[in-house]
Amino acid sequence: GEPLLETDPDVAEILRDELHRQQDGIELIASENLASFAVLEAQGSVLTNKYAEGLPGKRYYGGCVDVDRIEALAIDRVRKLFGAEFANVQPHSGANANQAAFMALGKPGDVILGLSLAAGGHLTHGAAPNYSGKWFRSVQYGVHPDTGFLNYEEVERLAREHQPRIIVAGSSAYPRIIDFARFRKIADEVGAFLMVDMAHFAGLVAAGLYPNPLPHAHIVTSTTHKTLRGPRGGIILTNHGDLAKKINSAVFPGLQGGPLMHVIAAKAVAFGEALQPSYASYQRAVIENAEVLADELLKRGFDIVTGGTDCHLVLVDLRPKKVTGKVADAALERAGITANKNAVPDDPESPFVTSGVRLGSPAATARGFGKEEFREIGRFIDDVLSAHGTPAAEEVEKRVRAEVQELCSRFPIYDVAYP
Ligand code: PLP
Repeated sequence: GEPLLETDPDVAEILRDELHRQQDGIELIASENLASFAVLEAQGSVLTNKYAEGLPGKRYYGGCVDVDRIEALAIDRVRKLFGAEFANVQPHSGANANQAAFMALGKPGDVILGLSLAAGGHLTHGAAPNYSGKWFRSVQYGVHPDTGFLNYEEVERLAREHQPRIIVAGSSAYPRIIDFARFRKIADEVGAFLMVDMAHFAGLVAAGLYPNPLPHAHIVTSTTHKTLRGPRGGIILTNHGDLAKKINSAVFPGLQGGPLMHVIAAKAVAFGEALQPSYASYQRAVIENAEVLADELLKRGFDIVTGGTDCHLVLVDLRPKKVTGKVADAALERAGITANKNAVPDDPESPFVTSGVRLGSPAATARGFGKEEFREIGRFIDDVLSAHGTPAAEEVEKRVRAEVQELCSRFPIYDVAYP
């Protein structure tokens, strides 16, 4: 076929610009990663064309012989990866996976207990503007404002008081190991289901570097595109056979129509990659690099929420440097570093401003950055944010932008001949 550049130069040009943005900048958004060419190829395949409502061997459409094989392979691989008895690989995203899990375990009006957005929870864990906060009676727990560690006593107290149907563990900005056994004990005490959303740390779990929630949770959900390093999408796992059918029917016909078979093919590729021995070394480097970054920033006078990290992310409290998350986010972007503003525990600023920034190591580690490069990143961040508001700010941002570009050019990614 004709190359995109000839059939649609408008779109091709935007794709090329985005490729260059990814190649020339340092990606520190904790929920992002760099998928392999193999993942991109599977996702850009002819499976795009196929309708396959139903499950492998039980479809509502003809011509599913090949997509049946790919979905069965994805299921088989992800079960092996996480030691799960059952998997559904059809959720279009993490949000869809969570909605399906809620649908399998409860009904609108039930009480759900999840981590608040302000403390690092995800919108789908019961936040007010999300369906999970509108359709359920949502109760939210938090972290200790002084230490940033999860407040299990509060989970226990709220569980006893509100008798939730579902307790949700997991988060988008929590840098420490979550005690799943403790959550399960609380759930059992009040007769609740425990749902763990491992979206952020799934890759670490797959590599055996973060506790596996499967033995404790009734249902585990995840995205496939964060630490796991696959295509954008969701999965649902369980070791409770009695929930399997409920999960399948919640995904389809409960919430979704036809599954995205090209994405499921890319999930199969990513799960295959995660089963290789080299994957564990990558994930080990992800954690080491996050630790180095936290350490470097601490040395340079930043506060780190909880004092450090056990995983791929670092939550930086910027108040000692007298800049807000909003300012830091914008200044770093001008210097070629992408991150996102994030609330810190008990944040005095609004969610649009915040006092913190969330940094993650998965994407930059995927391009080959090691400890030395992450120490450099710590210096870049300090240089830019310490100069903010001084007459030198613009010049420092420009100088760091050049240093970022030089560093990135030594660790090339997606070496394709784009015009
Ligand atoms: N769950 C958690 C913990 C997340 O951090 C996110 C995404 O940020 C999601 C679910 C939602 O995933 P998606 O963006 O694929 O819907």
